[in-house]
Amino acid sequence: MPWSLTVGHVYGTAVRIHVTFLLFLVWIWVAYYRQGGTGAAWEGVAFVALLFFCVLLHEFGHIFAARRYGVKTPEVTLWPFGGIARLERIPEKPSEELVVAIAGPLVNVAIAVLLLLYLGGNVGVEHIENIENPQMGLVAKLAAANIFLVVFNLIPAFPMDGGRVLRALLALKMSHAQATQTAASIGQGLAVMLGILGIFGNPMLIIIAVFVFLAATGEAGQVQMKQAAQGLLVQDAMITHFETLGPQASVGDAAEALIRTTQKEFPIVDGAGHLRGVLTRDAMIHALQAKGPASSVIEAMQGDVPTVGARAPLDRALKQITESGAPVVGVVDPSGKLIGLLSAENVGEMMMLRAAQPDARFGPWAKRPAG
Ligand SMILES: [Zn+2]
Repeated sequence: MPWSLTVGHVYGTAVRIHVTFLLFLVWIWVAYYRQGGTGAAWEGVAFVALLFFCVLLHEFGHIFAARRYGVKTPEVTLWPFGGIARLERIPEKPSEELVVAIAGPLVNVAIAVLLLLYLGGNVGVEHIENIENPQMGLVAKLAAANIFLVVFNLIPAFPMDGGRVLRALLALKMSHAQATQTAASIGQGLAVMLGILGIFGNPMLIIIAVFVFLAATGEAGQVQMKQAAQGLLVQDAMITHFETLGPQASVGDAAEALIRTTQKEFPIVDGAGHLRGVLTRDAMIHALQAKGPASSVIEAMQGDVPTVGARAPLDRALKQITESGAPVVGVVDPSGKLIGLLSAENVGEMMMLRAAQPDARFGPWAKRPAG
């Protein structure tokens, strides 16, 4: 994820902080400084830092629960609105998703209980309202914040944990895709209500509402994409008309091809028809600036481009594109010759066509040799 700094690794998960979170800390410092000077400013920042440590523990609740089901978590990022752990995949079994989603809020329940027990043991619950000791005040505020985190995260809308809990519960009764669609619609409805509340109340709510609405739309779209790809083969979606460059071609030749066509990625193919690599528009421009038009495309290309067979399932190839981060995937025949290209973009185009004509079976995007 761009715009975030890695601050460390915990059990193979990179802990990252988004730049906007650092700006948020600065904003907190300034806001408290204007109220109560330097002392108050640092106290405010200390509270927010402790609070986000609780958020991080919450994320590790999800991460360790996911690990139980063999799902790895490459990274967790702290944003001003909370933490997001990027799971390698969401467990599709509803009961497993339920456990993973609920594990985070349960961590905050545990923290709140521990803090309240500590407070109760030290000052007596009846005195909590008028605590003089500033250290006790911080503990009480932190306990209250953890309770808020539990309530906020259980709002039944994506990307909050409540949205996933809702989807998992719905998925016990219907298909995963249907459950996502229903949960996303409920989330969008909630977002609209939050937005209206925000207009009359706290403007911060409007920002949260927009964010929740977009997240719900994105979640539904991802599942639609996966569904569209299901049951289709790579050959149904691959690009078959494209220009290739030989290994001896220069970056200048590539630049001419870029102008001549609408292609943005050019496969480098050797005499035997085998894919050697892919030259992207960005790499081409970079090579032109750094080494000039006479330099070789072999030096500028990306070499380790994944390949799939034309009759491989499209959803598996789609996964390969997202996981490898490669601009395109090469489609090869059984002898290893390049016969097509597949990009997230053209799979997306096919998805739009299918959405426009859900029952079409003989469209150009769904043709398949009989048998
Ligand atoms: Zn969570």
